[in-house]
Amino acid sequence: MPSDNRYETWLEDIQEQTAQAQDVDQVQEVRNRWLGRRGLIAQAMKELAALPLEEKRHQGQLLNALREKALETIGGRQAALELAEETRQLQQERLDMTLPGTLPHTGLLHPTTRVRRFIEDVFLRMGFSLEYGPEIEQEWYNFEALNIPANHPARDMQDSFFTNCPDRVLRTHTSPVQIRAMQKYQGSLPVKIIAPGRVFRRDDDATHVPMFFQVEGLVIDHGITLADLKGTLTAMALELLGSEIKTRFRPSYFPFTEPSVEMDVTCAACGGTGCRVCKGTGWVEILGSGMVHPTVLRNGGYDPDVVTGFAFGLGIERLAMRLFGIDDLRLLYQNDMQFLSQFQTYIGRPGL
Ligand SMILES: [Zn+2]
Repeated sequence: MPSDNRYETWLEDIQEQTAQAQDVDQVQEVRNRWLGRRGLIAQAMKELAALPLEEKRHQGQLLNALREKALETIGGRQAALELAEETRQLQQERLDMTLPGTLPHTGLLHPTTRVRRFIEDVFLRMGFSLEYGPEIEQEWYNFEALNIPANHPARDMQDSFFTNCPDRVLRTHTSPVQIRAMQKYQGSLPVKIIAPGRVFRRDDDATHVPMFFQVEGLVIDHGITLADLKGTLTAMALELLGSEIKTRFRPSYFPFTEPSVEMDVTCAACGGTGCRVCKGTGWVEILGSGMVHPTVLRNGGYDPDVVTGFAFGLGIERLAMRLFGIDDLRLLYQNDMQFLSQFQTYIGRPGL
């Protein structure tokens, strides 16, 4: 028969084991051992069945009292250990609000795009409108209409990308938009447009890539002269490159203008004193222009006996290289983000 003493020993065991439990798992083991369905107390309860009634009642009370104390002891320890565990986890998972956040990746405008927008801004403020034409162009618009004869080098397979579709070429310049704009304006005056866009040639070296950007310009009205051309383009150059630069115009030849001129600006590298970049001249060319050839006016539906005009073509990359100090044109199109993202320099007006 179990003695009262046995339960006192058990209580001491329970208290000792509970106190030794160092974590939630260990205290659960103690609970299972004593209070589980097959634990020591449950076993002792079963054994009471064999006892006489009086003894069973007495032992039952003692066992119940032990069970109450065991629940209290083990439960208390369990709660304390659980709280400690939770506190430890919270400490570990604590958000460090002082850590710098992860910045979202924001895109940047390509240097070529920024320079194109700068040029557009300058001309829009001078009253020009924007026009666009197709990149896959009819040969007539790209060549014949611009007075480029069949034997002109630009017509050569070596210089242009022709397509499988007959009579279609990747436009070699933005000049076909001159004809398209004249056709759109249908003889009304003035025509005062710029046409930025992609052009394509079979070139690939440090100063030429197969795809690049031009801005075409065209002005037609009564009494337009070379003085208007010089005034407009000089104003543009001063806006784009700064009021300290100088410009000069040299006679040149293009099939679609007569007379033709090229505009030079003072060399950025030496400021005009002469260096390796400008081959000692102090000048670098930035655009080709001229008075619109009578044939071109006629092809666009304008009468060269009544109106005159001037046109120009400007390479955007060349200007971007100058504005950002880039020495190899190909770098602009290798899509190296590290390279491209360094050109944050302010150009033109804010937001361009
Ligand atoms: Zn120079």
